[in-house]
Amino acid sequence: MSASQSLRELISNCELPANEARILLAHLLEKHYQLPRSALLSRDEMSLNELAFLEWKSLVSRRVLGEPIAYILGKKGFHNIELQVDPGVLIPRPETELLVEIALTEITKLNKHIRVLDLGTGSGAIALSIASAAPLVSLIATDQSTEALAIAKQNAQSLNLLDQVQFLLGNWYAALTEQSQFDVIVSNPPYIAHQDPHLTQGDLRFEPKSALTDYASGLSCLEIIIAGADQYLKPGGLIAIEHGFDQSEAVVELMKVAGLIDVQTHIDLAGHFRAASGRKDLKTGKGN
Ligand code: GLN
Repeated sequence: MSASQSLRELISNCELPANEARILLAHLLEKHYQLPRSALLSRDEMSLNELAFLEWKSLVSRRVLGEPIAYILGKKGFHNIELQVDPGVLIPRPETELLVEIALTEITKLNKHIRVLDLGTGSGAIALSIASAAPLVSLIATDQSTEALAIAKQNAQSLNLLDQVQFLLGNWYAALTEQSQFDVIVSNPPYIAHQDPHLTQGDLRFEPKSALTDYASGLSCLEIIIAGADQYLKPGGLIAIEHGFDQSEAVVELMKVAGLIDVQTHIDLAGHFRAASGRKDLKTGKGN
């Protein structure tokens, strides 16, 4: 690679797939030249200055070693927002937007001042997308990682959503007072079983292990969260939780055992059962 190569040549001579090379190059064009992504085409004869070219080489070699693009760029789009991410947090996945949609559908139906709880917020993706789309909702987002909470708070600040979201340090419900109750609880907990080979492949190798696996069967965090729903939901309140593509039956069963009613499964854009929701009974305050 030499600094005199045009953008077109940089992409075609790059060892990365062209779509990835374009993403990295667009990032550098923005950063060093304040140029939009379209410059990849409109200015394809241009070459990078020495500094930008050195950075190009460094970004390409990081990606060649397998580092996820989101960590290299330090950001990831999710639902209608952009989040800052680093290796202290899980990279938000498109399939998790399903939880945001389930929560927003419920919020629209309720049409009043609503309290939402996001357990294991990571980068803040779920809580902040809900806050951004529903300005009257107030949220509590918990995480047991101080590192993750720091990133989530920074994201809340950049998105101007600090007024709407309170961040608490603690494992699942541990940071809440016993009397707290919510209209909606959402969570994308770690649900990959500890022996699952995916943990040692691709992007997942770079993500925080505690955000991916429960170090057990994959169901233990889902179990804790579902078991606490009755206490922390208002009567009639809804819990929606993400799970693995093969955990739907188990999660539905856990919800029924926990006394939740109106248990439903939800399918993601890839066609997998990806989330389940259930409700606390409105009349008795206990499900049947
Ligand atoms: N959906 C993620 C994956 O399969 C896992 C995230 C999680 O465990 N919540 O890569």
